[in-house]
Amino acid sequence: MKAIKKEVFNRLISSLIKRYEVIAPVKKELVSFEVIKEPKEIFLEKNSYFPVKEFFFRKNETLFEFKGNSVTVPVKKAKGKILLGLRRCDLNSILRQDMAFIDEEVDPYYKKERENSVLIGYHCKKAEDKYCFCGSLKLLDFFDLMLYDKGKRFIVEVGSKKGNEFINKHKQYFKNTNTSLTDKDKIIKNSDRLKKKDISHLYNHPDWKKDVKLCLSCAACNVLCPSCYCFDINDKVNIKDLSKGERFRTWAACQLRCFTKVAGEHVFRDKREERFKHRIYHQLQYFKEKHGVDLCTGCGRCIRGCPTRIDFVKTINEMK
Ligand code: SF4
Ligand code: SF4
Repeated sequence: MKAIKKEVFNRLISSLIKRYEVIAPVKKELVSFEVIKEPKEIFLEKNSYFPVKEFFFRKNETLFEFKGNSVTVPVKKAKGKILLGLRRCDLNSILRQDMAFIDEEVDPYYKKERENSVLIGYHCKKAEDKYCFCGSLKLLDFFDLMLYDKGKRFIVEVGSKKGNEFINKHKQYFKNTNTSLTDKDKIIKNSDRLKKKDISHLYNHPDWKKDVKLCLSCAACNVLCPSCYCFDINDKVNIKDLSKGERFRTWAACQLRCFTKVAGEHVFRDKREERFKHRIYHQLQYFKEKHGVDLCTGCGRCIRGCPTRIDFVKTINEMK
């Protein structure tokens, strides 16, 4: 097992910033993942309000530019990324997005962003607030390195070959330690909140209507979710020269009626209730049927950020 003193860790970060894009939680009005310029910006006390997905699955991405019959795919800069301070829920959400964008069908844009990235986790000792429920879902150990906060130092767990290579490359910063991690060290207290793990028989339960009445179809839940991965594709044509333009994609959201509109003006989830339940069922049933794990990682962001504080976990728990 390796350990690193916090002041040494900051020196390591300062050196990494010169060579990599270092992304960490930063506190402004709210906490968000940002590219940092110095280690003192790192904020580990609270998880980020916003998800980390935008560093791999971009909010706006040009897929190609066209001019007449010629098509050019933008070449991305190959600068490596180090992501720090990722919680267990966020790490598992990256794993879910890898399943959707790499394992199922390779998305070259996403894959390129993921290739040169190192994921460094930060272990939560307890649920951050009443909305977290990561302990109710079968989350996996998915990280390159995981930091366990032990006061003046971090104990470092290695989770992959990439993590091992990182330690070897920066071995002057790490020390061997006899301290080993116990099961107790890995517990996240108060995080098991979702009592019913199988919701397949509850689709027609009348209690959903209580939540649907409060839902504004604003899609904040989709945007804040670190796992949601739907997108829309559009063309933007240069108005002065119609032979030129670009095809781009943007995040999309299943809670919006326009998302479910297809050619011929058919809207296949026209009712708000259908859209509301679709998100919950994709998160807790449909994705699992295909990939063997829930899409949801229990981060609680969709509940914390919902303008009417709809808590679908509470609703499911109370269904008789
Ligand atoms: S954030 Fe809340 S109100 Fe907005 S669409 Fe999602 S569940 Fe509905
Ligand atoms: S559905 Fe909600 S709780 Fe689950 S991962 Fe998405 S934002 Fe987090």
